[in-house]
Amino acid sequence: MLMIVCDGMSDRPAKDFDRKTPLQAARKPAMDAVARHGVNGVMDVIAPGVVPGSDTAHLALFGYDPYKAYSGRGPIEAAGAGLEVRKGDVAFRCNFATVDKSMSVTDRRAGRIKSGTAELAKALSGRKIGDVQVMFKEGSEHRGVLLLRGPGLDPRVTDADPHHEGKVLESKGLVPEAEKTARVVNEFVRMSHVVLDKSPVNKDRRAEGLPPANIVLPRGAGSLGELEPMPRMYGVKCAAVAGVTLVRGICRMVGMDVLDVPGATGGLDTDYKAKGDAAMRALDSHDFVFMNVKACDVAGHDGDFRLKVQVIESIDSMLEGMLRDLHEDVVVVLTADHSTPVSVRDHSADPVPVAISGGGARIDHVKEFDEMSVASGALGRIRGKDLMPTVMGVADRAKKFGA
Ligand code: ZN
Ligand code: ZN
Repeated sequence: MLMIVCDGMSDRPAKDFDRKTPLQAARKPAMDAVARHGVNGVMDVIAPGVVPGSDTAHLALFGYDPYKAYSGRGPIEAAGAGLEVRKGDVAFRCNFATVDKSMSVTDRRAGRIKSGTAELAKALSGRKIGDVQVMFKEGSEHRGVLLLRGPGLDPRVTDADPHHEGKVLESKGLVPEAEKTARVVNEFVRMSHVVLDKSPVNKDRRAEGLPPANIVLPRGAGSLGELEPMPRMYGVKCAAVAGVTLVRGICRMVGMDVLDVPGATGGLDTDYKAKGDAAMRALDSHDFVFMNVKACDVAGHDGDFRLKVQVIESIDSMLEGMLRDLHEDVVVVLTADHSTPVSVRDHSADPVPVAISGGGARIDHVKEFDEMSVASGALGRIRGKDLMPTVMGVADRAKKFGA
């Protein structure tokens, strides 16, 4: 099984482009071939009228109820950064920021610091606050993740990050059980300032006239929900090819082998061929290979119709190469995690197209893969969390219920 999720590919008719969607305007023979040789439909990834985030959307696409499985951004980001998140841990997304002497934030991104954050993170990680272990890992630019491990932690705390310039906030427990966690967070924030302010990295930054990354601001606390790993849920070995940290984090959380592909950046400059090749190789050793291609979403957020068409065509050439080498028994799923219309420049609640070919898939009359053409297909309209069970059925991997 091969599932290709083109992040944010789904769109709306564009006024300035003949009222076509980017999918309708693009030349995409490989995507059309999947539609022509398979069963098609539209999908409300979470539910009708719900605007999916990429995180909740992917949980649904993997067969989870996002309302039960979603545990906040913190644990997903931490898993994506390569930290092992265990039950009972509390994880936060963080920014390296700049504060003045009165602990007032003057730059929430520390001048979008580009280098030195690994060294700063190292200085913070591995410490203990009381009986709580502190783990910290840098992300891209000014971002990082904080993971707290110890007895009696609870994620129901407020952010220390003020989300704009101004005083650093005291984290507060929203329930009595979370007061200890809030205390630890506040202690961590104070400690981060003491440690980072005198770091050689910041000495250099000051010398260059750059704002020092002299504090860490945690936000978005979360703990891992009760998630049955995908390999156990479906009895399949799963691999993931994805560039963006958030999606990689989810894949790791649900028990996939997340592959490292040099050149797969999750941006517009991603190496499509390298991604396609990695997914094809993974099919030799795994039953289910998931692939996320991010660039459509980026073009959607930028409101750039032409760029989105270009990205779709690049994905299509990658897919063309893959289909050439793919046995017809392999079930191929082509879809998006949500719509990111260029006219909205953000995600929208519009359903996404989905095509399933190969294996035991039925073949309907749909000839083209786009938002409208697939709507009359034999799959009808499904919800995101029904996709995986449907795919398992097509791949003859579903279990019998009853005699
Ligand atoms: Zn997305
Ligand atoms: Zn997006």
